[in-house]
Amino acid sequence: MTTEQQKKHSVIIIDYDIGNFETFNTILDEEYYVFVAPVGSDAVDVVRSTKPDVILLNISLHNIDGFDILKKLKGNGETQNIPVVALSNNTDSEIDEERCFLLGVSDYIKSPFKPAVVRARMRTHMQIIQQKYALEHVGMIDWLTNIPNRRCFDGQLYIEWKRARRDKKPLSFLMMDVDLFKSYNDRYGHPQGDTLLKSVAKVFKKAVRRPADLCARLGGEEFGILLPETSLEPAVSIAEEVRKKVKALQVPTANRTEITSVTISIGVSTMIPDGSNKVEELMAEADRNLYVAKNAGRDQVYAGKR
Ligand code: GH3
Ligand code: MG
Ligand code: MG
Repeated sequence: MTTEQQKKHSVIIIDYDIGNFETFNTILDEEYYVFVAPVGSDAVDVVRSTKPDVILLNISLHNIDGFDILKKLKGNGETQNIPVVALSNNTDSEIDEERCFLLGVSDYIKSPFKPAVVRARMRTHMQIIQQKYALEHVGMIDWLTNIPNRRCFDGQLYIEWKRARRDKKPLSFLMMDVDLFKSYNDRYGHPQGDTLLKSVAKVFKKAVRRPADLCARLGGEEFGILLPETSLEPAVSIAEEVRKKVKALQVPTANRTEITSVTISIGVSTMIPDGSNKVEELMAEADRNLYVAKNAGRDQVYAGKR
């Protein structure tokens, strides 16, 4: 028996037949969150707001054509990728079945609905969904450091920029780069360089505390931290904290005698998006400030003239 907290997936049933709804609710309620959508033009709206993992759609609906709902679901950008399992009460349903698959349903179940068969098919769909989520997740995570990658960062940056503009809130960005990393690699070898990247990534990950904060590996030995609803002063404080924590790792440098620990340099930028500025400028300013920090001797934070 699955408890409410253990349920991971949800199913929505679009069916005029209250008897069918009760049958499927009894079959599926133990494993999934089960919702019901009204049979009508607003069915698609309910699916959009509920965002179920699977849709059970009775295509043999009275008055309203179940195929119309199916076409709307498949024609809407927000619902088209949700698998639809078509249910049919028709006894001679060969034509319906073919039509359903042509319109993009993932599965087709005829009445009488046998509990064991419905459960088994539903489990297959949920497995496919889980694999898809896992693949999407892998595509967003950097293979070496296990933190979000550039692709994930770019997507989130865009979302946060729009949110900051709507809420008229500052968005801060920290661009971090490991100092003299080439010499480190040359001195200790590439695998040890990789280990260092993993260690600094751990420091960055720990430094972001709010749920919307994001740290990512942008490429090579370059990392970024995105801080929504954060003005310049607190962003600089976080940058300073991160810089000190990396130095406190006390990783020996390539030239042990001169500098005792590997360090990082950080460029900081903050903007309140208002239509006159662009997200690219937020990135470019942090990049320029990072360059200033490097030229000023590395192991420091630069946030522009203040
Ligand atoms: P600076 O202080 O100016 O940043 O000097 P730097 O040596 O860190 O900068 P540079 O851009 O010259 O060198 C970056 C080095 O990072 C060169 C490249 O071989 C190394 N690198 C990039 N990606 C990886 C990686 O995944 N693993 C390892 N071990 N090294 C990497
Ligand atoms: Mg670099
Ligand atoms: Mg570097």
